[in-house]
Amino acid sequence: MRADVVVVGAGLFGLTVAERCASAGLDVLVLERRDHIGGNAWSEDDPQTGIEVHRYGAHLFHTSNERVWGYVNRFTAFTDYQHRVWTTHRGEVFPMPINLATINQFFRTNLGPAAARALVAGQAGELSADAATNLEERAVALIGRPLYEAFVRGYTAKQWQTDPRDLPPEVISRLPVRYGYDTRYFSDTYEGLPVDGYAAWLQRMADHPRIEVRLGVDVLDPRASIGRDHLVGRVPVVTTAPVDRWFDYAEGRLSWRTLDFEREVLPVGDHQGTAVMNYADDDVPYTRVLEFRHFHPERAHYPDDRTVVVREYSRAAQVADEPFYPIGTPHDRAALLRYRERVAAESGVLFGGRLGTYRYLDMHMAIGSALTLVDNQLPRLLRGRAS
Ligand code: UDP
Repeated sequence: MRADVVVVGAGLFGLTVAERCASAGLDVLVLERRDHIGGNAWSEDDPQTGIEVHRYGAHLFHTSNERVWGYVNRFTAFTDYQHRVWTTHRGEVFPMPINLATINQFFRTNLGPAAARALVAGQAGELSADAATNLEERAVALIGRPLYEAFVRGYTAKQWQTDPRDLPPEVISRLPVRYGYDTRYFSDTYEGLPVDGYAAWLQRMADHPRIEVRLGVDVLDPRASIGRDHLVGRVPVVTTAPVDRWFDYAEGRLSWRTLDFEREVLPVGDHQGTAVMNYADDDVPYTRVLEFRHFHPERAHYPDDRTVVVREYSRAAQVADEPFYPIGTPHDRAALLRYRERVAAESGVLFGGRLGTYRYLDMHMAIGSALTLVDNQLPRLLRGRAS
């Protein structure tokens, strides 16, 4: 094996590191456990309809980071898709994230921004959002208790099955609260979907003469042809494997949520009229329904008499399940601190990505942090290059 750097995991973090190192003249070996690259951003065309389906749930690209936006546009153009989400609560459909339309519909009012702010502030209790130490406190501080109970408590219970008082406040800070009628889900400067799909984008990142990708290689499987112990100390390694698994769970297991996807082709041109419908109440067992044709209204080849829907269910991840969302209970956070000490002591190995850092990273965050890692490490890697 000849490589100047080995990247474990071909998700967006690993691919960005690989592509940047290869473009700088390093030979990069990428080892991916799955049978495809791209991590959870991978997509494929549904065989019956030709509709692009994101295999691991809806992936919407958005960023305000100029550098990241410039970087991703080298590999793909983006459509002008703008994500909007609706949520069903007690048989009624509301726009999500919470905005003036949600507030006025929910309270049967016609308030302007200032009056709506005053109403919510009166329901928010004493604690400021900054002082909140958990999801429930932060949500109540931001939107008041009635809106929290209608739109957040039930959904969050389904999504996390963890007491909202045990979840970190950052989880809910992902959603904006708007005192206007802007119903866009994201507030970022740039947003869109890859014109010819995620698979084509991701493939172009990996498509470099200095990058070799080997699929189906799990370096943490003791039977692997190229295992962790074979790599560490011999070649610089960047790993995006789950940090607890890398250290054989020596500090305990970090808890994750996994998702189950129930896919169905329906004999109608349009099932729900929008890409994502959330279900806020616990009488519906799934968190949301995705209808993939709506991500690409510009695609003329999609059939007009069939549609693909995916119901998304969330549950606690067992060892064999795909980890999706780091839960981050107080117990997890304590274990993570101990893992971070091990990470700092592991010489010749750098950790990154959602699994490698136990952080809930959006795609643009994974790419941005990979670019930063390469900025910091490339000079050293170039000095140590195999000759
Ligand atoms: N959330 C909620 N109600 C909703 C949508 C989101 O309470 O209708 C909360 C929930 O706790 C969720 C978090 O906001 O985990 C972040 O939502 P986001 O849509 O960013 O989650 P993702 O799409 O990454 O699963």
